[in-house]
Amino acid sequence: MSELVALLTVQRHDNTLDQLRYKHEHLPERAAIAECDAELAKLASARATTEAARDELRTKQRSIETDASDVEAKANSLEAKLYDGSVTSPKEATALGDEISGLKDRQSNFETQAIELLLEIEPLDEQLVQAEAAQGEIEAKRAEQQALLDTNAAALDSEIATLEAERETAAGSIDPENLELYRKMRITYGPDAVVEFDPAHNGGCPVAMSAVELDRWKHLPAGTLEPCVDCGRLVAKLS
Ligand SMILES: [Zn+2]
Repeated sequence: MSELVALLTVQRHDNTLDQLRYKHEHLPERAAIAECDAELAKLASARATTEAARDELRTKQRSIETDASDVEAKANSLEAKLYDGSVTSPKEATALGDEISGLKDRQSNFETQAIELLLEIEPLDEQLVQAEAAQGEIEAKRAEQQALLDTNAAALDSEIATLEAERETAAGSIDPENLELYRKMRITYGPDAVVEFDPAHNGGCPVAMSAVELDRWKHLPAGTLEPCVDCGRLVAKLS
């Protein structure tokens, strides 16, 4: 392979490699995974809020149930006292009866509150079950996309590795100084840093050569590699 053909081959491979690397970076599965992650984060945050609210209600409900059973225990012990014969005065018995009745009212009141709290807790528990199911669905979708991504990225990796090897082989037959010149030109001119001289198409440059320049190039020997005086790209004259 002549040096200039090799240089154009390197450029062609570099262009394809850039496209493949771009494709690798922008595989649609990456966006799908990012979307799943965003949904999962949103779901986790909503779930944490619901869980905190549910736990708070649960704590309140348990505390009220404890209050209810404390009051009940106290009422039971007073009731036992009322009937164990230790209370002899009718006045004392009436007072005790009133106290027991007050305690039972309080107990019933606590129990009502506990039931109300349970009714508030129920829909939150239901929401949490639904959130867990939604999370499972999104996680499954994410895993699916991840598997697709792994497969597609691996295919591109292999394509890239093959092309990189071919590029290295072609680069091996190029003068290191010319290769370095090309590398710098590529930063400025991108995918067509080197153009093949083409007398039929204004010299082959994206910026048409002047007639004088075109004529000068026609008389240069094959194998010439020089910057174009009009645009600065490297022009390669193959034949
Ligand atoms: Zn030019």
